[in-house]
Amino acid sequence: MIFLKAITVPTLFKTLAELCENLKSTTKRNAMINLVASFILQLEVRETSAAVLMLIGRAFPKWDQRVLEVSWAALGTIIRKILNLSDEAYFQAFDKTGDAGEAIESLFREGKIRRQSTLFQNELTILEVHRSFNAIAGITGTGSRERKERLLETLFSSATPLEVKYIVKILIGEMRTGFHEGLMELTVSHAYRIPLKVVQRASMLAGDIGEVATLAKNKGEEGLQRLKLKVFRPLKPMLAQKIESITEALKEHGGKTALEHKIDGARVQIHKSRSIVKIFSRRLTDVTSSLPEIVELCQNEIEEAEVVLEGELVAVNKKGKPMPFQNLMRRFRRIHKINRIAEEIPIRLYLFDLLYINGKSLINQKYTKRRERLGKLAGSIPLTKNIIASDPDVAEEFYKQAIKEGHEGLMLKNLDSLYTPGVRGKKWLKMKKVLEPLDLVVIAAEYGYGRRHGWLSDYHLAAQDPDTNELLTVGKTFKGLTDAEIIEMTKRLKGLTVRREGNKVIVVPQIVVEVSYNEVQKSPKYSCGMALRFARITRIRYDKSVNEVDTIHKVREIYNNQFQRKSRAPQL
Ligand code: AMP
Repeated sequence: MIFLKAITVPTLFKTLAELCENLKSTTKRNAMINLVASFILQLEVRETSAAVLMLIGRAFPKWDQRVLEVSWAALGTIIRKILNLSDEAYFQAFDKTGDAGEAIESLFREGKIRRQSTLFQNELTILEVHRSFNAIAGITGTGSRERKERLLETLFSSATPLEVKYIVKILIGEMRTGFHEGLMELTVSHAYRIPLKVVQRASMLAGDIGEVATLAKNKGEEGLQRLKLKVFRPLKPMLAQKIESITEALKEHGGKTALEHKIDGARVQIHKSRSIVKIFSRRLTDVTSSLPEIVELCQNEIEEAEVVLEGELVAVNKKGKPMPFQNLMRRFRRIHKINRIAEEIPIRLYLFDLLYINGKSLINQKYTKRRERLGKLAGSIPLTKNIIASDPDVAEEFYKQAIKEGHEGLMLKNLDSLYTPGVRGKKWLKMKKVLEPLDLVVIAAEYGYGRRHGWLSDYHLAAQDPDTNELLTVGKTFKGLTDAEIIEMTKRLKGLTVRREGNKVIVVPQIVVEVSYNEVQKSPKYSCGMALRFARITRIRYDKSVNEVDTIHKVREIYNNQFQRKSRAPQL
């Protein structure tokens, strides 16, 4: 007897692109869900995860730290090269539409490009696009930009204009079809007839809707039910909402709350099973190899066989005072000569949560319970300092103490709260100290893309150097302004434009803005040697002229003062 092996045909990327086009013109939620459900039901198991992620504009799952890192400028260069276009023609296409993918699609439709092949067998499949994304993300080191460009060039040359449009949209993470992760959960639930709650819980635990859809296809509801918090499978961290005052937090938490020092470091999720310890970053990347002393600390101090812990890592000086965030990042990035850098930049771990112990998940237990158990098993590893308070004066005093000790502010946690992975709710609140804002002048601006197409929405900010009368860049931001303000800024900046350099305009320095930031960092990026971390515009200062902007001396003073609270860093 002859057995015929079932031949499966890989799904074409074109089918996915056409589905996206359909979604874009569909406004009804149920109709969208039906369209996507019938699409995913027809996928092969091995392509399900990639296709599901692509439909929501992702090349990789959320927890996956790999990024395609293809800048807007690089994309422009490749497209101009493939289509043999002038800068002018390229930018003109963008002026016609607000959608980057569409602009590029129209350029490809008009362009006479020699496709690498027009034969049926060479049509792009979803898996091929996925493989290309993997290859692009895997490129590192010298010459990586050129190698990435070459890969993209190959990919674009074998794609139709419609396919190019959606490859670009996935690259920049902006699908604009109205189909997001929440709808995908509904779709998986609908397609495989699995209760929505089960799908949502699985998605939360896996941190990857692509994996959940594959599991649903393969193993159905039972497969998803079996998905448990497991040691060595990181789960999405619970997040906090910002709050402005302690009284507000007390009110939100019913008059009583747990206050913890908020440490300005990097969050880690530590998984331990007997002597094996793995450490995951906030984005759930495995960072174990950069942190050997933390591995050793957990092996020595934690006696319980299996635990999943959460904590914050901070770089400290010899006296144990927190050092600038930058130093910690150096530790995270380093994978060679670890011992040397471990000596140079010692780090300390503060634990703040316990999610799992010896086969049992604790995420459905209250904060107070989890914290109590954490305290019992942490050995000599410090927990974040905490108090439970209902008196605003006591809480205020605790806040002052946190700042004095060089910390960032407070976390305020609802006493009865369960641990909800990936959720930014009000059960956890955060309150941060603010540094005095700076008045800076806009000296250049860049056009945005996507929703901000046609708007000058990214601003280069400068302080004045009174010694030389120069304006020195200290940061860049696209954050803080409302749409109306950006439109107004665009109008004013166009009137002040001296020249255009690609996507950027250099302007007469006239518009003064008030800028908040989290820290002044040492940085080689700008000639002054400093850069604002997380800069955002808080106000347009119509009342100030360029002569009144803050000086570079003041920025330097803020940099130096930061370390009177924190430990001493190299003075500038
Ligand atoms: P943010 O990054 O501003 O959203 O603030 C939340 C972050 O603060 C968390 O993701 C942790 O990395 C960090 N953090 C510092 N101290 C604590 C703490 N005691 N409890 C929870 N998170 C903390």
